Amino acid sequence: MISGRTSSKNKSVDPTTSGDKLLNPPFKDPVQPVELTLDSAIRFHCHKDITCFNECCRNIDLTLTPYDILRLKNHFGMTAPEFVARHTIPFEMDSHGMPGLKLIAKPGTTECVFLTEEGCSVYRDRPLACRYYALGSMSVRKKDAAKVEDIYFLVKESHCLGHNEPRNLTVREYRKEQGIEPYDEMNREWRDIVIKKRSSGPAIGRPTDRSLQLFDMCSYDMDSFRNFIQTDGFRDVFDVGRETMERLKTDEEELLKFAFRFLKQVLFGEMTIPVKKDAKEKRLRQRQEINAGNGRHRHR
Ligand code: SF4
Ligand code: SF4
Repeated sequence: MISGRTSSKNKSVDPTTSGDKLLNPPFKDPVQPVELTLDSAIRFHCHKDITCFNECCRNIDLTLTPYDILRLKNHFGMTAPEFVARHTIPFEMDSHGMPGLKLIAKPGTTECVFLTEEGCSVYRDRPLACRYYALGSMSVRKKDAAKVEDIYFLVKESHCLGHNEPRNLTVREYRKEQGIEPYDEMNREWRDIVIKKRSSGPAIGRPTDRSLQLFDMCSYDMDSFRNFIQTDGFRDVFDVGRETMERLKTDEEELLKFAFRFLKQVLFGEMTIPVKKDAKEKRLRQRQEINAGNGRHRHR
């Protein structure tokens, strides 16, 4: 997974790409083919008085993460579906149709819908890709490695004069300054799901429509997911304590993390949410009752 913001449509920073080596990045310039660690020093400073101010927001191709949606919909006091309908366009993140969302541009332009003369109008809750730029990050699962690891690199676009400013800092300091850590923390499980799903290969085949719908809801529609976990269908199967359930009703960040656990369970069978012992029998009984009911109707 790569995160970052870019001002060019053709140099799209795809948040779901995984790869082995930065030396063979999935896009060409302006990515600098030097792998950085958290302690690597970079030279960069973006500030309001710089002559390129706002340039990087005038030609966007910006993929949103679930935590971006959560922060931005709350910024506007909207529900998730309202925000998604008004400010995003759907796209497919891979050939299997995994749903993704991009931020829309102002009508008839490629300029970010949140850009004003004074700068970013949602700065406090700006997306992860905006926070990263002009740094990029890539989550890679190296050959035979069990875990995904993060590496970083610089994205140097000619219009961005921040690279000429006399300020050195480490990648770690830059991440802190830009408030990246909570975003990465919140999106980590989701990123792993996307990478795992993508790397499952053609043998696994296309995910079912139902699993794509669940992915969509768990990623981008917290309001529907909150309702979903309160249905009898969910409660009959999953053993979620009353206290946890109450917290999930009011704490959206917990709800988002829970949504990712649920996704891992239904997509990959990772049993992180306890299942009720009698859930299988109950479902079977319900199905038999439905079938028996249908049979009675047919024989009338
Ligand atoms: S959200 Fe803000 S920082 Fe990001 S592209 Fe739009 S205006 Fe620029
Ligand atoms: S320095 Fe780079 S990131 Fe900052 S406003 Fe200019 S183009 Fe955008």
